[in-house]
Amino acid sequence: MTQIVLAGRMAQLSESATLALNARAKQLAAEGKTIYNLTAGELATNTPEYIQTAVAQTLHLNKYTAVAGLPELREKIATEARDFYGLDWIAAANVVVTAGAKPALFAALQVLINPGDEVIVPIPAWSTTYQPLIELAGGKMVEVTLTDDAYDLDPQAIAAALTDKTKAVIINSPHNPTGTIFSSEALTELARLLKGKQLSVIADDIYNKLVYQPDFSLPASHGFENLVIINGFSKSQALTGWRIGYLIGDSHVAHAATSLLSHVTGNAAVPSQQAALAALRRHDQPPQATIETLKQQRQIVVDGLSSIPGLRHNIPGGAFYVFLDVRDLTDDSTAWCEKLLVKTGVALVPGEAFGAPGFARLTFVTDEATLRAALVHLKDFVVKGALA
Ligand code: PLP
Repeated sequence: MTQIVLAGRMAQLSESATLALNARAKQLAAEGKTIYNLTAGELATNTPEYIQTAVAQTLHLNKYTAVAGLPELREKIATEARDFYGLDWIAAANVVVTAGAKPALFAALQVLINPGDEVIVPIPAWSTTYQPLIELAGGKMVEVTLTDDAYDLDPQAIAAALTDKTKAVIINSPHNPTGTIFSSEALTELARLLKGKQLSVIADDIYNKLVYQPDFSLPASHGFENLVIINGFSKSQALTGWRIGYLIGDSHVAHAATSLLSHVTGNAAVPSQQAALAALRRHDQPPQATIETLKQQRQIVVDGLSSIPGLRHNIPGGAFYVFLDVRDLTDDSTAWCEKLLVKTGVALVPGEAFGAPGFARLTFVTDEATLRAALVHLKDFVVKGALA
């Protein structure tokens, strides 16, 4: 048999690093090792009952829908976003329902980016997926670091990175991997600096309903021009496996994304669209119990981490991540995470996956006993000198 030669574009494409680590932790668990898996990017709860009940009534619906989604769903997403962000230009025609937020990002980048274009991504970021999606469109990811103290946007640094090739800036708040919510001051300043530029602002808002701090505002409410909002129901409704998301953009962007997806996924699965409709009847709010549990888990982790010498951490305002600064402990956070996993069973995602060597991401969505045990092991590991 002749050797199959893959297309050149596959050379720089590897599996998502976050998914790979999660898989490795699961594999060790299957081999019988006790694993404290703090790598996940999803809630631990089951699909909410009200979604299960609503979808069960509609299982007979088996036909293709419009590629951009059920008209009623597009209408409801538009209404919800209009009210949530205070953006009156958003109508059903601006909404494209997709099979998760990832295809929404894929479509947005495919329709906006030409070969050679640059996309600014504030780092650390979920670059493990942003970068390949940018590169699949022929673009180049340009990293600009967040502020060192608070992981906030640095508007002046972003403005300084603009070139005549800059086609988009990706802003994700609440933020993966730090859980930070970018400050209103930084967003307002960035919107001012980008005014009149020929570029799009892609607001990845997938964590916008998982927020713990009382006062916050999100990128889409700050007057950015050429805004594309990426969102979905994966994180807010514990629907990661149902694959349901959307993009909202100018009518040209929405139309082009629909044409593209008509040849790739077609419409998002009908039961998942029905699940989204059910979620929107409650304004896509996660069950209150979910938020309360997350707040408790966040507190347990923040308290536990504060007692570990040499390890710095932030206090997240949203999402379900804490970002650990391990630069005082190691020069190689991938090796450090690997050793932590093998020695103690605690699985974290090394900062390299987010363009931030010297850091590690901890997800706090797991039961209290697991969290507390993981924190004890982590402290022990650090205190005894991890790589000694
Ligand atoms: N955007 C960010 C920042 C994420 O962290 C994730 C998932 O981890 C996604 C988008 C993708 O969401 P979905 O599972 O709906 O494709």
